[in-house]
Amino acid sequence: MSWQVRDKARRRLAAETGAVVKDWGGRLSVALVFPNTYYVGMSNLGFQTIYGVLNRRADIVCERAFLPDPDDLPVHGRSGVPVLSVESQRPLRDFDCLAFSTTYENDYLHVLQILALSGIPVRARDRGPGDPLVSMGGVCAWANPEPLAETMDWFFLGEGEESGPEAFALWRQVCEVERDPAAARTEFFRALLGVEGIYVPRFYRVEYHADGSVAEVISRDGAPLPVRKRRLRRIDAYDTISVVRTADTEFGAMGLVEVGKGCGRGCRFCMEGEIYRPVRHRHIPAILRAAEAVMQHGPRIGLVGACVSDYPWIDDLVAALRAEGAELSFSSVRADSLSPGLVQGLLDSGTQTLTIAPEAGTERLRTVIHKSLSDTRLLQAIDLIAASGVRRVKLYFMIGLPTETAEDVEGIIDLAKKTRHRILKARRDPTSLAELTVGVSAFVPKPWTAFQWCAMADGKTLDGKIRRLTRELRKVGILVTHDVPKWAYLQGVLARGDRHAGDLLRLALACKADWRRAFREWPRNPDFYAGRERPLSERFPWDHFDVGTNRERLETEYRRAMGLAPERQVRWKAALA
Ligand code: SF4
Repeated sequence: MSWQVRDKARRRLAAETGAVVKDWGGRLSVALVFPNTYYVGMSNLGFQTIYGVLNRRADIVCERAFLPDPDDLPVHGRSGVPVLSVESQRPLRDFDCLAFSTTYENDYLHVLQILALSGIPVRARDRGPGDPLVSMGGVCAWANPEPLAETMDWFFLGEGEESGPEAFALWRQVCEVERDPAAARTEFFRALLGVEGIYVPRFYRVEYHADGSVAEVISRDGAPLPVRKRRLRRIDAYDTISVVRTADTEFGAMGLVEVGKGCGRGCRFCMEGEIYRPVRHRHIPAILRAAEAVMQHGPRIGLVGACVSDYPWIDDLVAALRAEGAELSFSSVRADSLSPGLVQGLLDSGTQTLTIAPEAGTERLRTVIHKSLSDTRLLQAIDLIAASGVRRVKLYFMIGLPTETAEDVEGIIDLAKKTRHRILKARRDPTSLAELTVGVSAFVPKPWTAFQWCAMADGKTLDGKIRRLTRELRKVGILVTHDVPKWAYLQGVLARGDRHAGDLLRLALACKADWRRAFREWPRNPDFYAGRERPLSERFPWDHFDVGTNRERLETEYRRAMGLAPERQVRWKAALA
């Protein structure tokens, strides 16, 4: 059966442009692994960027590997076919190092599944000199890597464009001097402690209180405490672009170009807005240089960033790219930074859909989450979009936000109906259907946000809200798409989990992804992680990291937000007195 898997990898490689196929002779081999399918992984710009960065080094051969597609998983499981790399179709065990790129907590089980399918022990302590070194980067690695602390040899905290090549070069150096493989590994892990932005969990011991919360994290052998994330200081020096192009991704023929990192808006639920601080914008010449490389494969460009319409020179950038013949799309636009020029530029480029994210249905709740967007401003943006002739509009909301009431959920229905009305009014043909979609997802409290102390709503409550929204909006012809609350809950457990969450992941692996059984067999209460409001005095599992955001400021933001909850004002005033 392995020929089937090998053949699929070969066909994928043949359908790509930009893949790097190197001879392995004398080079350090790194498998860059995305713990989800090829389709999802190839849409990820961070994954693509690191692939380009590592392959620019002559002494490294970097190949890609992915979670097998759902149809292929039984073949791997039944016949023992290992996960293969795309470029040389080699099993992951053959590589010197694995580097997982993980951006979504629910992919943690996939990390373990990929290791198990590859015959690589899932615990670092069970691996030896005959096994590859296993590391992880991506936003999960520096938000809260603790659930995978017993799996990884090390984590890349922060942007990996510099720390990635440095860590792998260090391994080569150590191996040149120390010939005994076991001693080389020990020496390498110690040497990694000196690389900025690297966390080697085996040098840290976590002590817990009797109630299960973290009491203390103790480092040994001079391991840094806190561990600081790495950030790029000269952002123009690194292009963040699609390196490999394939039609088999969410973006198809479109090449992606990042305009900058971080966002200064300070939405209280948004982890990306916090952990990418400080905000760094690329200059227009650097973006044009990157776009030129991407446009060699076609004119369609997707501009990517935490909030692209906030890019300070956006109108000039759009004009310059349009002058080069680029057809543009944006990953995200803010209703209050939309301008007629921007909408027209997108329309001229063939954009069919614009997504606006009010996040909450009422002005009160938007103030709580620090998304200061009035209904009036929002509807003005809708009028602008509707008048432009964009064919599809998508509104995105969260449910289960802290302090949310029934009125806030009704506000979503009300706002969606008003939006549809505005779109219909702007249409020349009043009988044509307004193409409006409402996307709904459950709020998950994330580390490093002002809401990291908040409890997550339970699945039954979220289900009820989704059912109400779907029923009411369907009546007026508005399509509702939504995520599944039970998966959001799992994300909530893993996002704020400690090292004990690693036991849950290993149980889920043993139960063949039967999460219900895994939760039953896990001797801990998942609500302790997801459904509990945490006291301000509690130490978090991620408090031994420094990602450039300040806990005191987050606490102030949390207090401010909770003070805006009508039913809590009395309690909070008493607590703060
Ligand atoms: S939600 Fe968007 S606007 Fe708000 S902080 Fe995050 S990236 Fe910025």
